[in-house]
Amino acid sequence: MVTANLRDAQVEVNLAAIRHNVAAQRQAMPAGNRIFGVVKANAYGHGAVAVAQDLSSAGIDGFCVAALDEGLELRQAGLTELILVLGITPVQYAGTAAENDISLTVGDVDWLKAYQQLAHAVSIPKPLKIHLGFDTGMGRIGFTEPALLKEALELLKDPVFEFEGCFTHFATADEANDAYFKQQIARWHELLAVLPTLPPYVHMANSATGLWHPDQITGNTVRMGISMYGLNPSGTVLPATLDLQPALAVTARLTFVKQLKAGRSVSYGATYTAKQDEWIGTIPVGYADGYTRQLSGYQVLINGQRCDLVGRVCMDQMMVRLPQELPVGTKVTLLGRDGNDEITATELAEKTGIINYEILTSLSPRLKRIYKS
Ligand SMILES: *Cc1c(COP(=O)(O)O)cnc(C)c1O
Repeated sequence: MVTANLRDAQVEVNLAAIRHNVAAQRQAMPAGNRIFGVVKANAYGHGAVAVAQDLSSAGIDGFCVAALDEGLELRQAGLTELILVLGITPVQYAGTAAENDISLTVGDVDWLKAYQQLAHAVSIPKPLKIHLGFDTGMGRIGFTEPALLKEALELLKDPVFEFEGCFTHFATADEANDAYFKQQIARWHELLAVLPTLPPYVHMANSATGLWHPDQITGNTVRMGISMYGLNPSGTVLPATLDLQPALAVTARLTFVKQLKAGRSVSYGATYTAKQDEWIGTIPVGYADGYTRQLSGYQVLINGQRCDLVGRVCMDQMMVRLPQELPVGTKVTLLGRDGNDEITATELAEKTGIINYEILTSLSPRLKRIYKS
């Protein structure tokens, strides 16, 4: 998809906020612990390469991505830190990971055997770095049985592999009730006990664990995702324990302003009709940019004031009722702070029945990203 560089609509990313959030997490952990910046899904919409480059100069310990291609994007941009693919990579692509020094997650013995065969057949020059995933209750990927984990450890002695890490992932670390979290912790310790020696990276904390269970963290590395971008993983369920600063805003400028006469309507379905003469502005952003149609009738900020969207959000444009006639080019904040008011991703998520993560990752590549360092 093309990026609309020649349009007054953008995602604004404040890199200093991301650095601030990482520093806050670092301060809250024992000295010597490491932080992997989770930059999957284009760094939760913030732009993976720009965020990773900035974190790299600020001294991050590694990056996590979801798919091998995302790791390759970072290597091609010149990043030299550890890069871990959190999802399962098809064995036939694993040689590409080894060649590019990208670490892969493995959750079963058959995968290791298949790679062993492949690596011996085609002789891949570098060992493949492996992080074993432990499924302690997320029910997604990873080892659950100690016996199979033991078998995996035997296979990892083959020099085609380098056993670099092991980790687990929590399903309920952002909830007030920690009973399930505690069960997962117990299984984590059971599986860790199978390892005669620990690999260099032992990681179990996502953002929520880093925020609400710092005393339960064993291992030496936190995988920081949503909290790095300044958002609360629980939405509004639990108060954040760190001073998190949201890093992302979405802004645009009015492209068209008109007076709508009483009785005239706006947008598809003509669902909105003016009761009196009023001023309407057009914003050059729509649902194809990730501003969901479910936000039809919601609010944006103009000159620090909330203004109602009117009519349905279109694919590429939407309309707002203005408090008075305002010039074309007036700034509109769809997400972020303007004056004393702020529309957060969490607020938009609650309005639409999704989570703040999804608001961020929905922002399409058509919206240009601009950075403030
Ligand atoms: C996405 C992901 C994370 C980051 O999660 P946050 O809630 O954003 O901190 C960490 N670990 C794994 C395995 C993930 O898939």
